[in-house]
Amino acid sequence: MSPVASHIPLTGIGYDVHRFVVGRPLVLGGVTIPHTHGLDGHSDADVLIHAIADAILGAIGEKDIGHHFPNTDPAYLGISSVELLKQVMVVLKAAGGRLVNIDSSLIAEAPKIGPHIDKMREILGSALGLPLTRVGIKATTNERMGFVGREEGIAAFAVACVLMPDLQMF
Ligand code: MG
Repeated sequence: MSPVASHIPLTGIGYDVHRFVVGRPLVLGGVTIPHTHGLDGHSDADVLIHAIADAILGAIGEKDIGHHFPNTDPAYLGISSVELLKQVMVVLKAAGGRLVNIDSSLIAEAPKIGPHIDKMREILGSALGLPLTRVGIKATTNERMGFVGREEGIAAFAVACVLMPDLQMF
C-alpha cells in the first residue's frame, strides 16, 4: 500500500518597498544598520520582514499584512516587525501550517547589506522557528537604475514554503 500524504507543500510570494527618509533608523531583517537614512513607515518599516510575512500569509491563502496589521491602527505604530512576524507565525499555526523555509532578496543601492546578513538570518530563524539553512537572505543592488538605483528606497522579495493539511483529506 502506498503511503498517503496528509500534508501538501504550498508556496507564497511577498514583495514590499519602503521609501528612504532622514531621521529614522534603518531596520532590515530585525537588524538596525547605521546609515544616513531610514525607511519611512507606520511600523519600523522593515521591508524585508514585510515581504517575508506576506509570503507566509500568501502561502496559506490569507490576506496581506496590511490587512492583518493596518497602518491606521495605533497599536502598530513604531512596532518591531519581528513582533509582526511572530504574530504571522501564530496565524500560520492556527491554520494548521508548518513553515518549511523562506528565501528572500533585498534590493538596495546603499548601505552594504552583506555584513549584516548573518545576524538577520539568526533573528529571523529564531522568530520563524527555522534553522539557518532554511532562512535565505540575499542582497543585490539595482545597478544604479530606477528608484532603488537613485537611493530613494529599498525593495524586497520573498518566497515561503509551508506544509498544510491536504484539504482533500478532510
Ligand atoms: Mg511594508
